[in-house]
Amino acid sequence: MFTEKARAKTLEPNSPRNITRAKGLQSNNCPHSKMEEQKENIHHQAENKNPSESGVRDTPLVKTAGPQDGSTVDPVPAVSPSHGEFSDPVYKEIALANGHINRMTRDELRAKLYELKLDTRGVKDVLKKRLKSYYKKQKLTLSAAEAEKTGTFYDFICVVDFEATCEESNPLDFEHEIIEFPIVLIDTHTLEIVDSFQEYVRPEVNPKLSDFCVQLTGITQKMVDDADTFPSVLRRVVSWLQEKELGTKHRYTLLTDGSWDMSKFLNIQCRISGLRYPAFARKWINIRKSYGNFYKVPRTNTKLSSMLEKLGLKYEGRPHCGLDDARNIARIALRMLQDGCPLRVNEHLHEGQLQGVPSSAPPEGAPPPHNPKGRH
Ligand code: AMP
Ligand code: MG
Repeated sequence: MFTEKARAKTLEPNSPRNITRAKGLQSNNCPHSKMEEQKENIHHQAENKNPSESGVRDTPLVKTAGPQDGSTVDPVPAVSPSHGEFSDPVYKEIALANGHINRMTRDELRAKLYELKLDTRGVKDVLKKRLKSYYKKQKLTLSAAEAEKTGTFYDFICVVDFEATCEESNPLDFEHEIIEFPIVLIDTHTLEIVDSFQEYVRPEVNPKLSDFCVQLTGITQKMVDDADTFPSVLRRVVSWLQEKELGTKHRYTLLTDGSWDMSKFLNIQCRISGLRYPAFARKWINIRKSYGNFYKVPRTNTKLSSMLEKLGLKYEGRPHCGLDDARNIARIALRMLQDGCPLRVNEHLHEGQLQGVPSSAPPEGAPPPHNPKGRH
């Protein structure tokens, strides 16, 4: 298990762990793109547009005049009828500010963000969203209840990114077994990564890792041979979450990059290990969906490296190391929270089937974690 301090040391920018041993695996060559597309669940999952993630909540949309270059513009929130404040000068000011922001060039946006001491990295749409969120927050005099609604509902977010056994082209029915269980803990109030957990896991059905898997993940045969099996690791995960009083004192949820971590890897692993699927992992935030909806990025463009790139961030660490992946996903989540995205649960597993969570569902934290139980 890593403490954050020990971790910081291992993630020095020039540390050897940062060198991608599996060169070429990040490129757009076919097997990987296919894998990404499947992970994304693009073909199987109905789009779950969450208005709160689109940054406009439940307000009707109006189009502002386009920028001079004729490119498309973001819709601007119209006055919220639920407030019954159609003539509220604050909303008019926000609409005017948004219109102005839509007409700004990338350099103007960066200069303004710099002046306001805000992050200046990212593509133009990201910069626009950041500046609009800033003005919206500034201009709205929020009641405590409204402030609660615009922030995220959760006190903590646990970013999970499993690594699993694999072959170069996994057959559809491949029995993936989890070989790394990492968690990166985000405090949504301080907007910091506050802790992390990592353990390797010994696979039981296919104890021998393929050369491809070792090269992809950097996880060696010895690492998994020396590790415990999944039920014991899951028990330690539960203790770790309980120590942090998640689900009891603090509201929390899980967050993943795509749908597969829970709907595929954890689901298969629980079946193999004869465990009931844990209740605390039934709902989660799929950050790809949240990101696509919030920054208006097509779902085909939300793989980890693209999300980082659009925010002006670089991958830190080693791609496909579960803990490094989770830390980079956490960096994206933090930026989204800073940019005003409330990050709400948007997927869940119901009777083994992946389903979207409607944005109208009331926000709900994950239940307190309990020790794994057998299936019967
Ligand atoms: P990731 O979170 O992208 O590192 O992927 C999680 C797991 O998905 C890996 O540990 C592999 O089991 C599987 N996986 C990811 N990319 C590939 C790929 N290109 N080919 C085969 N399996 C992969
Ligand atoms: Mg990973």
